[in-house]
Amino acid sequence: MSVDRSTIWPYKDGEPGDFIYQRYGHPTGAEAERKLGELDGGHALLFSSGAGATTALALALLSPGNTIALAEGAYFGTGVTFGLLERWGLKHVEFDQTGQPPDGVDLIWLEAPTNPFLTMPNLEAAAAHPARVVVDATAATPVHLRPLEHGADFVLHSATKYLAGHDDALLGAVVCKDEADAERLKEFRTRSGIVAAPDPCFLLLRGLKTLELRVHRQTESATELARRLEGHAKVQKVRYAGIGGLLSFDVAGADQARKVETSLRLITNATSLGGVDSVLEARARWEGERVPPGLLRLSVGLEPVEELWKDLDQALAQA
Ligand code: PLP
Repeated sequence: MSVDRSTIWPYKDGEPGDFIYQRYGHPTGAEAERKLGELDGGHALLFSSGAGATTALALALLSPGNTIALAEGAYFGTGVTFGLLERWGLKHVEFDQTGQPPDGVDLIWLEAPTNPFLTMPNLEAAAAHPARVVVDATAATPVHLRPLEHGADFVLHSATKYLAGHDDALLGAVVCKDEADAERLKEFRTRSGIVAAPDPCFLLLRGLKTLELRVHRQTESATELARRLEGHAKVQKVRYAGIGGLLSFDVAGADQARKVETSLRLITNATSLGGVDSVLEARARWEGERVPPGLLRLSVGLEPVEELWKDLDQALAQA
């Protein structure tokens, strides 16, 4: 489909049609939501970014005094966002998502797998808890995990990452199990204005056409690279969930990590993940003491795995 950039659509015989004003919804977004909804088995809504989707979902679901149980080691920005919302009376506590969520919380926020620690959540334990469950499945993608089939109420994606897949679209998504929840969240989106523009939605539609192929190839390459990194003398620890293209590994310290970053020739030293080009960065520059100083996060792209290994091996030799 082509991009419809209109912000308005004419009424017919004085009556508004399916599309009225872009903030309420637009054809490119509606088509992308239909496709993503099918992939995750629920009702999808797109937002201006993954962080926008996180903010909208938390504010639409919760009230002052409520507490979110957030997976330890999840994307650090999610904790920062929840921290900002503390002024409005939203609390959050971290917990080990491989076990039971704490009692007395109002919302459980899991990440599959966590970025950059790569733990997988115990979905069964979360589903047995009375609170509702959000799974940020950005790194797993629906190719590897459909959380709504495992008792989750909401799936969150930074669609900026694997779903769009080419590092050229900023976009977030929430897929709701329940239609009434989707209606409520859509109303919040319309009124808060945390909406996705048509152009990134078009790029998402195009990205979804190759999602499965990309993610399978990235998983294959990441599995092989994780195996080889495990045996590398300069690598102290490797974290990989066995699915998807995201992994992290530790070198001795910050200086060694910087040496790897600046010695790369093929892999780009940049942030983010999920694109067709491989990127690597030391996470301590953003996350501080939350991560080991030598932790390097690698998002494996579509380059031939032997070329990726050659690049990693020569960069590690400098560390
Ligand atoms: N969730 C995860 C797991 C992420 O990695 C990110 C971004 O890095 C986000 C959410 C936030 O998404 P965005 O950058 O699209 O706002």
